[in-house]
Amino acid sequence: MEFPLDSDGFFRRECPNCQGEFKWHHGPTADAPAGFVYPQVHWCPRCGRSAPLDAWWTQAQIEYKQAVLAVSAGDILADAFKSVRSDFLRFEANSSAKQPRPDPLVEPDDMLMIAPPCHPWEPVKVPSEAQVPFYCLLCGQAYAL
Ligand SMILES: [Zn+2]
Ligand SMILES: [Zn+2]
Repeated sequence: MEFPLDSDGFFRRECPNCQGEFKWHHGPTADAPAGFVYPQVHWCPRCGRSAPLDAWWTQAQIEYKQAVLAVSAGDILADAFKSVRSDFLRFEANSSAKQPRPDPLVEPDDMLMIAPPCHPWEPVKVPSEAQVPFYCLLCGQAYAL
């Protein structure tokens, strides 16, 4: 399943602890040191608490994933019904098969890019109203701009 990045290659995330939104760079940045070993958790730039890498989905991303999965489940059911020779079942399959695909998510170029002094090659983007201190995504160290 594909999710959009903004034009700088950043991916929108939501903290499971504070529900604050921010963006991290998708994959290593161009300036990341070769061979850097990434931690198994990331720290929220806004509240400084950590969570596993797969815990940061936004509500919109979760809803999109569920909608896509619902459509593919409908397609599988429709295919199963097609192999059954019954006019009644064919009617049922046709009436339920055409669930619309969800509209793809769009990632606007919003938020401000900031970089921590401890890991300056791993910037994040935070909403303009976000308050200092911020926290390093990779090590949790607090910093102000
Ligand atoms: Zn947070
Ligand atoms: Zn750091």
